[in-house]
Amino acid sequence: MHLSKNFTLSELTKSVIALQNGIRNEPNSDQMLSLTLLAGKILQPVRDHFGIPYSPTSGFRCEALEKAICWGGNDAKSSFAKWCARRAIMPNEETWPDYFAKKSHPSGEAGDLEVPGIPNLALAEWIRDNLEFDQLILEFWSPGDPGAGWVHCSFSAGNNRHEVLTIGPGGPLAGLGD
Ligand SMILES: [Zn+2]
Repeated sequence: MHLSKNFTLSELTKSVIALQNGIRNEPNSDQMLSLTLLAGKILQPVRDHFGIPYSPTSGFRCEALEKAICWGGNDAKSSFAKWCARRAIMPNEETWPDYFAKKSHPSGEAGDLEVPGIPNLALAEWIRDNLEFDQLILEFWSPGDPGAGWVHCSFSAGNNRHEVLTIGPGGPLAGLGD
């Protein structure tokens, strides 16, 4: 099932971690609508501009999958554990909902992108300068390695904040890594 000319539902829901953990990563109708907007407003314009086929490395994640990726069974190095450490709270079922509420992959609004042959900073700069989006994050980018990390981008059906961040080992910083 195509969500836009070059992007299908299956490539926005496929996940090795879901398969490994027996998680059914299936969006409901609201999440489907968000994924269709993501494909039409972000993924397809990037495909059309660069003219290079690519598939997002991550799209929709149901809550069980988000938990497997971000918490990974109490691992102290997990994103959720680090988020809790910065707030001096414990990673547990009581603090999880606050963390989860801020995540945009589970709503179907976000995709993680890499385009073969295009430095991730150049990809993020093109999106920043040409597309409407809610959040654009250059993730784990490294100045000496153009292929390091990936570009996270979300599109909201409501208010798009046009927020631009770079996330490295020390946490989020405003703007892109240039
Ligand atoms: Zn992401």
